[in-house]
Amino acid sequence: MVAGSATKILKRPARKITLDEVVEGLKSDNLITQMDCERIAKSLKLARFHPLVSVGKMAFKHPTEAKVTLDTEWLTQWYAGKIGIPYIDIDPLKLDIGEITKLLPKAFIKRIAVLPVQVTPTKVVFATAEPFDRDWLLDTSTSVKRDIEVVLGNPDKITRYIEEFFEVRSAMNQVGEGENDFGDQIALDKMVGSDKGEFKADDGNVAKIVDWVFQFASTERATDIHLEPREGQAQMRFRIDGNLRVVYKFDAKVFIPVLSRLKIIADLKVDEKRRPQDGRIKRQVGDKLMEMRISTIPTHYGEKMVIRIFDTNITSKSFEELGLSPDDIKGWESLVARSFGLILVTGPTGSGKTTTLQTSLSFIASPDINICTVEDPIEIVNEQLAQMQVNPEISLSFGNAIRAFLRQDPDVIMVGEIRDQDTAEMAIQASLTGHLVLSTLHTNSALASITRLIDLKVEPHLLSASLIGLMAQRLVRVLCPHCKEKAPPNMDLWKALIGPYNVPTPQFVYHAKGCRECRNTGYYGRIIVYELVRVTNELRELIRPGITLQEIENLMRGKYLPIRLNGVQKVLQGKTSIEEVVTIVI
Ligand SMILES: [Zn+2]
Repeated sequence: MVAGSATKILKRPARKITLDEVVEGLKSDNLITQMDCERIAKSLKLARFHPLVSVGKMAFKHPTEAKVTLDTEWLTQWYAGKIGIPYIDIDPLKLDIGEITKLLPKAFIKRIAVLPVQVTPTKVVFATAEPFDRDWLLDTSTSVKRDIEVVLGNPDKITRYIEEFFEVRSAMNQVGEGENDFGDQIALDKMVGSDKGEFKADDGNVAKIVDWVFQFASTERATDIHLEPREGQAQMRFRIDGNLRVVYKFDAKVFIPVLSRLKIIADLKVDEKRRPQDGRIKRQVGDKLMEMRISTIPTHYGEKMVIRIFDTNITSKSFEELGLSPDDIKGWESLVARSFGLILVTGPTGSGKTTTLQTSLSFIASPDINICTVEDPIEIVNEQLAQMQVNPEISLSFGNAIRAFLRQDPDVIMVGEIRDQDTAEMAIQASLTGHLVLSTLHTNSALASITRLIDLKVEPHLLSASLIGLMAQRLVRVLCPHCKEKAPPNMDLWKALIGPYNVPTPQFVYHAKGCRECRNTGYYGRIIVYELVRVTNELRELIRPGITLQEIENLMRGKYLPIRLNGVQKVLQGKTSIEEVVTIVI
């Protein structure tokens, strides 16, 4: 049976979309000019692509909507409207890859070149790039025995996902020996004991699945991959712009060899499943070098693995990209260029402190200075630095690492975190003896790091002499530039945002909306909101025994821009939404 839209197409003769009809259509809709048509005609080499891809590659600007480029996705949607069939924006995160790839054999799908995008008990939706080619419909509807709906999809994506999903599927089938249905009762931890899967960890199919996991994570801009066993199944979640989402469900028989393979390449003990382990992986994925930290913990259902992906572009990131204002960039650059003193970046876990420090080290790194770092663990390997990892088993603590560095003629020392008295004292000693020391602390505000260090029994007069700069930071999501919308602010939210400060209410602010660029989240990427305190003589005098945070805050009021007001600034500049800042300043 063939449903609605497909029937309509069936009435036309079978053929492929031509470049001419796409170009003619664009011209008659006044989307391109005669000159553009001539440009397309001249680019004969584009002819080997699908017409929507060829024209998409020319990247014409929309004549009236400044932000819109006539790329392949846009053209696909436009063309679907033109010929009157539904359009689909193929989003791999929304597809049930397991269901889709179970439907028909890989060879058949590759031959007919259409991608199933939705499978229900009564209907299958297929995305095609050739809506006038109907030859596949009859065979397919006999095989799937359900209604078929045909929609138009981006030709590039259809080819890519057929290849990707069906290749991975056939690899999974081979690993799972074709058995896909596991009794729900079988918990994964039971599998772990007996597991035959172990032998397959170096199998080519397992390698293929692991490569796909990396590839998928990379194209989706994931920062973390969670591989977690559940009852009878396992799931993979990605963290994208701070939020976790389920992207794939693994069969138990596939999951265990995949985990084993990842453990092998990260140099972990494959048969150790009862203790937490951690290691590193470096992989070239496409044109990107992925640097990852991998860790496992035993859970009720078996081993759970988290892979943190580090942005190897950090070393080439600018302070502006991090979210610093032009004035603060100058201020921060002059701080980190000093030859001695202590600079602290503070904030909770996951507030981007490491990124700020790494960017700062890359900024000052040069062949004529010696930079040593001690980290827990080393996140991004940077060849310009001498990096060391703390190792409690051999008493290599942060404090002991600084002692060792001081014998190595350092100029700059970066200490991953100050969390005990010994590290605090060593960091201060190093900064007082002609070295620049950068470190982080877990405090909520910049000024709170002063009392925190005094609590760690640091001598206030030494701290006063060494401290030169403090920065507290958090991460907020950046509004998607393609779809953010102007609207008057919600007054309750605005009041929650400005808190005790008096800021004139703007006529409008930007809100998250959602489009295909941002996967309907309304956000794309993250920046920091922060407060930067330069340690002046005035502040130096306040650092004395018995001083409270309240007293320091009272005396410093108005002398620096608090994190909340930096957030307000970013809202007024349209970089982020009120909601994003409110959640981090409350
Ligand atoms: Zn968007």
